[in-house]
Amino acid sequence: MVHASPANELNDMPNALPREHLPAGHVICQAGAPGDSAYLIEAGSVEVLSQEGIRIAVLSAGEIFGEVALLDQLPRTATVLTLAPTTLMRIERAHVQELLKRTDPVIRHLLMLLLERFRNRSGHENIPGLNPEAALDSDAANLTLMLAQDLTHAMANGLLELAYQPLISLPERNLIGFEALIRWQHPLLGSVMPTKLISLAEKTGLIHPLGLWVLQRAMNDWPTLRSYCQPGMLSTPFISVNLSPAELGNPQIVESIARFLDEGGIPPHELQIELTESAVIEDLPSAKQVLQKLAATGVAIALDDFGTGYASFDYLNTLPISCLKIDQTFIQEVLVSSRRREIVQTSVNLARSLGLISIAEGIEDESTSDLLVELGCGIAQGYFYARPLSLQAIPKWLEEARILGRVSRGD
Ligand code: C2E
Ligand code: CA
Ligand code: CA
Repeated sequence: MVHASPANELNDMPNALPREHLPAGHVICQAGAPGDSAYLIEAGSVEVLSQEGIRIAVLSAGEIFGEVALLDQLPRTATVLTLAPTTLMRIERAHVQELLKRTDPVIRHLLMLLLERFRNRSGHENIPGLNPEAALDSDAANLTLMLAQDLTHAMANGLLELAYQPLISLPERNLIGFEALIRWQHPLLGSVMPTKLISLAEKTGLIHPLGLWVLQRAMNDWPTLRSYCQPGMLSTPFISVNLSPAELGNPQIVESIARFLDEGGIPPHELQIELTESAVIEDLPSAKQVLQKLAATGVAIALDDFGTGYASFDYLNTLPISCLKIDQTFIQEVLVSSRRREIVQTSVNLARSLGLISIAEGIEDESTSDLLVELGCGIAQGYFYARPLSLQAIPKWLEEARILGRVSRGD
């Protein structure tokens, strides 16, 4: 079936679409013929005839026809011919398929379902596989939708957890704070990787309630966590919470954070928000606005995964950042690569000269920890000190870490 639709959503098309100038009475496409393109009418008009030769529509400048063929591999269901001299722009299936490939499987799957229903209604009973990837899309889409539903259920029923990874101030080795990290034990799939969970939440819009849940839970647990901490030379104790780039777009985010702090009686400087370098760079003007509002409340802001997102000195200069978290890829090879060592040293020096705290994450052994002290890093985080722990597991860990000398006795 040929169908008309508005043309103003084609802004991702190449600028120079091929044009065809046709005289009146020219058959553009024939019912039953294979279709590998759609057409945008730039000037003139066309008539659309059903397979029985009945006029279905007359279309003019700005309208599109033949678009169903862009999505499936089926023959044309209508004949279209020009009513007047007409200029058409051809839209190739290959280009649209390329755009579709970059689309989320859920959207692709829904599109294909709609198309299938549309084709069925138009009297096509036996629809072959719409395209070779359709079955895969359907699986991926169903999995995403199922997980999104499970995640909503988990959030509503208290099935999500936060783990807390200790932060150790250097060189004195005081337990100075924790990073809150989400954990989800799926009843069938087992533990879901946090990066997967966050990307699922971002795709399905669940990131906003999820982010607020994380903040609220971390604020609730913070008084207990703080009771284990000691101030360091550079900072008083704090809890660090990750914020996804999507959450920066929530107009209420700063107010929500301020409300949680207020309700918990928590001084704003005891909360640090971690944002990845790439999230900040992705949409700098709006990130800057939100971060300035956030910093004005007194909350600290850390640039996470520093060194991986091409932050320029200008960002460091203009954004209200108080901490650089040096990405673990640099830390994990710092002992074997002199270039990595240079990068870490430069990052630590940069932080110091800008009056920022440096945190090294991913410290897995004692020699790396010693080197970070030597390089003058401010705070250490990594499996050498502790893996992310449940709230209940912290006292036992602290006792052992003190015996091992990884954390100071705090007296
Ligand atoms: P991230 O913010 O860079 O968090 C650090 C990750 O490194 C954590 O992984 C942590 O468990 C891991 N890690 C810490 N020390 C070491 C170490 O010594 N060696 C190794 N190999 N890994 C170490 P996790 O918990 O799997 O989280 C992965 C990512 O998921 C986080 O990376 C963060 O981007 C995201 N994420 C986790 N929780 C949240 C959350 O509540 N909100 C948001 N928006 N993102 C979160
Ligand atoms: Ca982080
Ligand atoms: Ca990180």
